Amino acid sequence: MSGFREAVIDLEAIRANVRQLCALVGTPHLMAVVKANGYGHGAVHVARAALQGGADWLGVADIEEALELRDAGITAPILAWLHDPDADFHSAVSDDIDLGLSTVRQLRQAADAALELGRTASVQLKLDTGLSRNGLAEADWAEAMSLAAQYERAGLLSVRGIFSHLSNASDDADAEALANFERGLFVARSAGLAPVLVHLASSAAALRLPEARFTMVRIGIALYGLSPFENESSAQLGLVPAMTLQGRVAAVRRVPAGAGVSYDHLWRAPVESTLALVPLGYADGVPRQASGSARVAIGDDTYPVVGRIAMDQLVVSVGQAEVAVGDDVVLFGDPSAGVPGATDWALAANTINYDIVTRIGRRVPRRYLNA
Ligand SMILES: *Cc1c(COP(=O)(O)O)cnc(C)c1O
Repeated sequence: MSGFREAVIDLEAIRANVRQLCALVGTPHLMAVVKANGYGHGAVHVARAALQGGADWLGVADIEEALELRDAGITAPILAWLHDPDADFHSAVSDDIDLGLSTVRQLRQAADAALELGRTASVQLKLDTGLSRNGLAEADWAEAMSLAAQYERAGLLSVRGIFSHLSNASDDADAEALANFERGLFVARSAGLAPVLVHLASSAAALRLPEARFTMVRIGIALYGLSPFENESSAQLGLVPAMTLQGRVAAVRRVPAGAGVSYDHLWRAPVESTLALVPLGYADGVPRQASGSARVAIGDDTYPVVGRIAMDQLVVSVGQAEVAVGDDVVLFGDPSAGVPGATDWALAANTINYDIVTRIGRRVPRRYLNA
């Protein structure tokens, strides 16, 4: 029986996905990306499971996210790559968190923190190779690399890695970024840097662009068992979706033909119908944009969500089927089990599966299987 509303996270699926990805990719290192609370799955639980499955690095966006992992007792190497302009790098350096650096200013800030602490800061230089987000601009590569090499010789910094991120805009755009990245590596080596960790690929490129694998891949979405591709499913990739979002039918009512349902009466019953009330809404991260187009599973069948998805609840029309208060309802889970997937909800809401799992809110308790 499921909880009133809950996200069940199967940690064995995470371990199995990492094992599968290690086998497919074959790089010396694999980073599990657990930013944004492990894409909504719970960063600490996912991090532990990913390490058990064979990942040897953890990746997060902010230093705060990295510190949360350290506070939970996780000692594996962690990289954080997105910083407040006035970020205080001291806590990161003291807690052995690798800093992904995107500007010459950040290089100086990292070296300053190291000097004050009397330690060597471990850093990885992020290059902009065509995504135009963060990362060192090509015009700054030579200056940044020689400064980094100088700090390295002074014992302030250890440049453990060089990395970049692809746009996935097209094969041509990725090929161009790859060529830019190779040029960046050349500039780095010419400046005397010898980074051990060279990484460019996230899930999509790790799976489809072997030239982008280098010595490490950074895996996010695939770790959670979801496919980054529109034309290839989790099952085809040998991945198992780890999250099941489910609840229990909170009320059942029979309405006559013509009855309007939920706010604005976006939907009216075409014939006398049975409606099931599900206690999950947009406050829980269920996308309101999927009103009228998503489906949920109750028993062995799936049924349409009808009318507007509200803050706390949504309505399902089961037509003439038998459904009772307390029955389990699955919004999404592993499609191999006959339930809709996060990708189905993404299609219904005109977004991507990343957005569906990451947005699941705080009000939804997480329950872990195979911890
Ligand atoms: C989020 C992120 C990833 C993971 O991407 P997926 O597509 O989820 O595998 C990798 N690298 C960086 C820099 C990221 O921001």
